Amino acid sequence: MPPVDTVPAVRCHGPGDVRVEHLPVRRPGPAEVALAPLAVGVCGTDGHIVGGSFPAARPVVLGHEICARVVETGADVDALAPGDLVTVEPHDYCTACAYCRLGQEHLCDGKRGYGVRLDGGMTERMVVPARIAYRLPPGTPPWIGALTEPLACCLHGMDQLAPRSGLPVLIYGAGPAGAMMVALSRTRGLGPIVVLDPRPDRRELALRMGADAAFDPGDEASGPAARALTDGLGFPHVIDAVGSARVLESALTMASRGGRILVFGVARPEDEARVRPNEVFARELTIVGAVINPYTHHRAVGMLPALGLDRLRPAFFPLDKVPDALDAQHVGQTDKVFIAPHGVAAAGR
Ligand SMILES: [Zn+2]
Ligand SMILES: [Zn+2]
Repeated sequence: MPPVDTVPAVRCHGPGDVRVEHLPVRRPGPAEVALAPLAVGVCGTDGHIVGGSFPAARPVVLGHEICARVVETGADVDALAPGDLVTVEPHDYCTACAYCRLGQEHLCDGKRGYGVRLDGGMTERMVVPARIAYRLPPGTPPWIGALTEPLACCLHGMDQLAPRSGLPVLIYGAGPAGAMMVALSRTRGLGPIVVLDPRPDRRELALRMGADAAFDPGDEASGPAARALTDGLGFPHVIDAVGSARVLESALTMASRGGRILVFGVARPEDEARVRPNEVFARELTIVGAVINPYTHHRAVGMLPALGLDRLRPAFFPLDKVPDALDAQHVGQTDKVFIAPHGVAAAGR
């Protein structure tokens, strides 16, 4: 039996080396809160960290898409109370670099993510600064609450894309993020919303989330069929929710004149795409990136009830089954995988 002043946590020690370990419990400092994570989303980044292709601290407790119950508050914390349901904005910034001082903290030189460089939420208990815990409406299913973080990233992506209502959008990839982009596109009044994904289950998910059409990019007819939905003009808005050089190259051909292309998916650092500068010039294309969630977490909490995210089909795994959860997220028997540190019932289903 472990001593009572420890809790189990899922730590990654290196490529493929994930262990459940008992770590000491810490009391919250004056401006901190202690949380009991109820649902923690498994994201592609977790797979990259475990696979060794994403820079992270070793060892580190995994998990950055966190919904939790407040269990203890520090002496100076007035805004939260034990029992509150919260979601965590999982970043810490240096506050002193040029970007921090320009209000662009997400571009900070010394940015540290929870579950990446700081210990994350795949544990029975964690302590974070109260200022990064955002209260959720009572009754929010914790697994929906855990979607606040990826939704906040999608919102920043939409801000960068700055779409004009009433015009089409093409979305590459209908994983959980692509699916949320579909739902956001609907609320923004974009249409038709067209999705490309090689997996039939993900095309079905895209349609379930409100896409007007979904095609298999491996099918040669998919490009012309998608373009036909824009009167042959191409798409004024294109979202890469995959992260690959091939997708960017394809996006350039599918964009309309004046089109805006959002690079939202995480490509491998070494990937290179072929871009013809003359095409960017002559067709007046814009390529924009979007990284993490600067000041969009608050807005994401506000939008959560309106997006119909309960159309996603969740699956839940206990702390000691994280490798199985990563596999499940990868092969896609389900739309979105969550770790439930306090059991499936506490995660909301
Ligand atoms: Zn993530
Ligand atoms: Zn900074």
